[in-house]
Amino acid sequence: MEKNIAVIKGDGIGPEIVTEAMKVLDKVAEKFGHKFNYEQLLMGGCSIDANGVPLTDETIARCKASDAVLMGSIGGNTTTSPWYKLPANLRPEAGLLGLRKALGLFANLRPCVLYKQLSEACPLKKEIADKGFDMLIMRELTGGLYFGERKTEEVNGVMTAIDTLKYDENEIRRIAKKAFDVAMQRKKKVTSVDKANVLDSSRLWRKVVEEVAKEYPEVTLEHMLVDNSAMQLVKDPAQFDVMVTENMFGDILSDEASMITGSIGMLASASMNETSFGLYEPSGGSAPDIAGQNKANPIATILSAAMMLRYSFKMDKEADAVENAVNSVLENGFRTGDIMSEGMKLVSCSEMGDKIAEFV
Ligand code: NAD
Repeated sequence: MEKNIAVIKGDGIGPEIVTEAMKVLDKVAEKFGHKFNYEQLLMGGCSIDANGVPLTDETIARCKASDAVLMGSIGGNTTTSPWYKLPANLRPEAGLLGLRKALGLFANLRPCVLYKQLSEACPLKKEIADKGFDMLIMRELTGGLYFGERKTEEVNGVMTAIDTLKYDENEIRRIAKKAFDVAMQRKKKVTSVDKANVLDSSRLWRKVVEEVAKEYPEVTLEHMLVDNSAMQLVKDPAQFDVMVTENMFGDILSDEASMITGSIGMLASASMNETSFGLYEPSGGSAPDIAGQNKANPIATILSAAMMLRYSFKMDKEADAVENAVNSVLENGFRTGDIMSEGMKLVSCSEMGDKIAEFV
């Protein structure tokens, strides 16, 4: 197969970690007989320096014309970088928000995997960590409380603030479908998280999710209240496969789930629209403190590239090969600084990429 990948290396460690992901993708192409064409585009701080704005129409158009977007990270040191003296709409992060909007990316996918080789970094009790877990949180990204009408006003002499949590059935249906589609490629279980004992928006959420579930008889659906979900994540994370939820619940639960995996350098993510198109990026930022030193952990970006293979290109075997290679490299004791522990072998960013490509 031939695929066109828009590549946004971005700022800070972005160029270093994306280069390693491309190295691994090239190895996949060689082994499985595919051709990946890369088009490098600017976004974030590097685009401000080159074009005066964090995102250009050209970058948007080229991303739209591609089969998927692979991204590093954007932004700089928020206290010292001149990018942060600019008005908010011209700062690096405005580029990313603008790109997500322009591409209609409404579903955020965050896998949370505890590798048994890194279980010491997990803050949970040993008996829970030892079981390991492999789940994916799917968060609705463009609706709910963060996008509803809001106002602050004086009512009868008392300052009063109002935020609105609004979802229509179409917004719920499209994210539910995405969750079931992804579950079909995983362990075929969906946990839909809501607060249906209190909120109308949650009751509609539950009803629509149940309708969608009828189209996926192979997938087991369960509903869970958000407060219980927060507890279950630390009590028994192994019970989850795909957890789907609205914007604010997802914001909070995905950070909780990330924390229990132990390391930011391992966390992949994807944002997708209704088609198989997606933007794939590590969950961490541009890490200006270690940029340019060949020290960053490229695994999150490499695992994001594996998600691209699985969800945008439907290349399951190839994605498995990358994920297994990451496992083997950890099994063989290779570690970047952020996940280093006693007795392991310290490697640089590029050496980690070499090792993973080798194991593919
Ligand atoms: P950060 O994630 O960049 O760094 C936090 C800590 O984690 C640092 O100590 C860093 O060295 C470490 N770290 C992060 N990724 C790592 C990796 N792959 N390997 C090893 N260590 C890693 O968060 P921050 O310092 O709060 O933000 C720095 C910049 O990144 C800011 O400009 C912020 O706005 C931006 N940012 C961008 C994105 C994005 O591109 N999507 C996301 C978050 C933050």
